[in-house]
Amino acid sequence: MNKQTNWSFDTNAIRAGEHRDPVTGAHNTPIYQTATFSFETSEELADAFINYGKPDCPDLYTRESNPTISMLQDKMSVLQKTEASLAMASGMAAVAASIRLCAKAGDHVIVTDKIFVVSRSFFQEECPAMGIEVTFVDMLDLESVKNAIKPNTKALFVETITNPEMFVVDLAALKKIATSYDLSLIVDNTYLSPYLLQPVDFGADLILDSATKYLSGHGDAVGGILCGSEKLISRARSSMSSFGQCISPFNAWLILRGIRTLPLRMQRHTKNAMALAKMLKNHEKIEWVRYAGTPDSNQVALMEKQFPKGCGGMLSFNIKGDPDNLHKFMNALTMVDQATSLGDVYTLAAARVNYGLIRVSVGCEDEEDILADFAQALETIEI
Ligand SMILES: *Cc1c(COP(=O)(O)O)cnc(C)c1O
Repeated sequence: MNKQTNWSFDTNAIRAGEHRDPVTGAHNTPIYQTATFSFETSEELADAFINYGKPDCPDLYTRESNPTISMLQDKMSVLQKTEASLAMASGMAAVAASIRLCAKAGDHVIVTDKIFVVSRSFFQEECPAMGIEVTFVDMLDLESVKNAIKPNTKALFVETITNPEMFVVDLAALKKIATSYDLSLIVDNTYLSPYLLQPVDFGADLILDSATKYLSGHGDAVGGILCGSEKLISRARSSMSSFGQCISPFNAWLILRGIRTLPLRMQRHTKNAMALAKMLKNHEKIEWVRYAGTPDSNQVALMEKQFPKGCGGMLSFNIKGDPDNLHKFMNALTMVDQATSLGDVYTLAAARVNYGLIRVSVGCEDEEDILADFAQALETIEI
């Protein structure tokens, strides 16, 4: 298996974790579309049962392991610089697994109050049902994080760039707090992907990505990846099998294929988003733009320390005048699609009227075409 770590990230995105098919010599990763695996002898099958769930166990059943899924996991361990990774059915499966690894009934976790909406429901509805107490705090305010810590607190859960407001959290400062109170630091790295940020560099214990977003990059598969120590991930693997949250070999294959172009896409997303942020910032009809990468952002030092390669493709902005201008603007777009989700090669936008903003996932189309669509839609607005 190609697990060299002396290659650069961009080479690893293509080559790490992959190997030619030992049976057919197929150069590209085959989709092992099978539920179960058969054995030559009864003794071999008996051994596989005994070793079920251990790292070197032969593939026995796809809910537990499968060669296509293993290649995706091996690649992600290299890209996130962790000992192990677990591919799961969705990003939400990885969110839930990360908490189950760190907390049980009677424990308490501290969670960023600026959080992906479905993660919020998980923490608000499902954690209390499991007996896990949750406090939401503003992770930009380190004092309030410290004040929320109780004797039974086990973990801090953060998103590296907050959704949908696009604030940047200080991971090194949060790690310092986590270390002094013996808490696990869990980082949802979906907005940046390992190309822009490897949270282990800042001490993260568990890292998760919604692979549906930048890793897949083409909006064609739902999946999630949890990365961490071999000890934590092997526990997550057996729990995943019990909860039945495995990814399909086909989705794993699509995500694996997507990751090979992650560096190329992230460079384009970042360049396009920066250009759009600058254009909007200078536009008379725009109230404000939030993109962590623009030079006048008050978080620029933090951003440069944590993501020197840039801030990716997510930005949000508001339009002056009547709040209904958000809908008017969206309906005037001719190329950009109105959709939730992010990290797609297509530019996607959605009005979030309750937050008073439009959230944009800037795609990989030509910069001129993206800017032209936003400019013509703004033309139709009266302020
Ligand atoms: C989309 C998303 C998730 C959930 O991922 P799914 O693959 O949709 O289940 C979690 N966190 C963030 C920040 C997301 O954007």
